Amino acid sequence: MLWFDVVARYTGGMRKPGTDEDNVQMSDVICDFCHSEWVEDEPMVEGHHGSCICGKCLMVAYTDVILSKTNTAPEGYKCTLCLEHRDDPAWQSPMYDEAVVCRRCIKQASGALHKSKDFDWTKPPGAHD
Ligand SMILES: [Zn+2]
Ligand SMILES: [Zn+2]
Repeated sequence: MLWFDVVARYTGGMRKPGTDEDNVQMSDVICDFCHSEWVEDEPMVEGHHGSCICGKCLMVAYTDVILSKTNTAPEGYKCTLCLEHRDDPAWQSPMYDEAVVCRRCIKQASGALHKSKDFDWTKPPGAHD
């Protein structure tokens, strides 16, 4: 099952408080993991319920969890992107404790972004699949 959308245009996404719903700008979409605003040349992947992870955070998560096999998530965490309580290793945002992405989502989101022709985001060196 692959549900991730690489956001090449605005489709929903986490919004800053006070966003005018009828006039949503790209800069109103923010990454759940670093809270940086979405800019045109920066890839953003959307998970469930408008949760988003940017290319930079995904790269760090991929490097830590997939390549270095580290697990920074608290036990019993709930993944921000798939909204499931998962047992697999995961990456917790160093800035926002509530933002955690599970290994499965990292892989799927990376796969979606890797294949996307809209951005030249590729998996870090050392990735096997
Ligand atoms: Zn980010
Ligand atoms: Zn997940």
